[in-house]
Amino acid sequence: MNTSATVTYQCPNCSAGLSFHPEKQKFCCEFCLSEFTEQELAATETARAAEEAASEAAERAAEEGETPDEEYCAQMGEYHCAACGADIVCDEATAATECPYCHNPVILGGRLAGQMRPQKVIPFKFDKEGAKEKFREFTRKKWFVPKEFVSEAQVDKICGIYYPFWCTDADTTAAMTARATRVRTWRAGDYRYTETSNFHIVRKGEIHFEDIVTPALKEEDREMLNGILPYPSDSLQDFSMPYLSGFVAKKRDIEKEAVREAVRARMTGYAQTLLQNTIHGYATVVPTAPRMLTKRLHWDYTLMPIWLLTYTRKGKTYTYAMNGYTGKVWGQLPVSGKKLAVVGAIVGALAGVIAGLLRFFLF
Ligand SMILES: [Zn+2]
Ligand SMILES: [Zn+2]
Repeated sequence: MNTSATVTYQCPNCSAGLSFHPEKQKFCCEFCLSEFTEQELAATETARAAEEAASEAAERAAEEGETPDEEYCAQMGEYHCAACGADIVCDEATAATECPYCHNPVILGGRLAGQMRPQKVIPFKFDKEGAKEKFREFTRKKWFVPKEFVSEAQVDKICGIYYPFWCTDADTTAAMTARATRVRTWRAGDYRYTETSNFHIVRKGEIHFEDIVTPALKEEDREMLNGILPYPSDSLQDFSMPYLSGFVAKKRDIEKEAVREAVRARMTGYAQTLLQNTIHGYATVVPTAPRMLTKRLHWDYTLMPIWLLTYTRKGKTYTYAMNGYTGKVWGQLPVSGKKLAVVGAIVGALAGVIAGLLRFFLF
């Protein structure tokens, strides 16, 4: 008979729940048969908390020295669009005149201030002509698009913009436990036997994450970004000023502090999937949430290239975007009411003919 009471301590050896056995005055693990005193467990808990704190500290120490870059800021002008509120930056030679989003004039707000220099950049692989050609290809067969949308004057407004992202690399140790069962049934004479074996499963592994991409913009169009991602990892280059020449960049408005938890949650999610996929051959598996320690977390402020074309029609803005490196396109296309009315009429007429035929056959 088991007289033990359940407590919240976890076995330091196998992570199973421990139970207190009064006769021994010890906490016992029913899975690995280890025994611990209260003092031993308290010490383990303290060590574990210290380990977690050290991991957080290591993470932050790696980020020290990331202060605003004076030299980079001095070479960059900051522009503001009074019409749509967009904030863009570009180098002195490029000098933006028009808002890439609403095509109204932009005002130079002065030198850029308080910004880090990007660490990485993905250069544009398509120039403006190449981007225009891709757009024409995309719209060629979409005959319901209004003529003005594909006019030369409109297409010429296509603008090369660098979007800011956080690119995260990490070294982690992840561990998870699960309860699992295997069931065996057999027959002997008039009896049918069922044997259920219980397993306590522990999985632990070192996981390296590379280039986890998170947008560094609050306002940006997530749907658009999802439509043109991904960028291949091997396209990342070390940043240098000439890459910006002739292009504007959207000003970053999300610091890494704001996305840290989300990035961790994503890594923990990936870790759980990876570890869970190694558990096979059980009838049931009930996993617990994984525990993850970060040994190194590295952030690269990265600019990624997008060719963007916007078009406003009846107060609604349509956005067409192309991945400036891979050429993958995404677009919300305006629909010409006039052209649709014509289709409506044709479909209506066909339906009429079909209805007429049906009636003919039924009679
Ligand atoms: Zn144990
Ligand atoms: Zn604007």
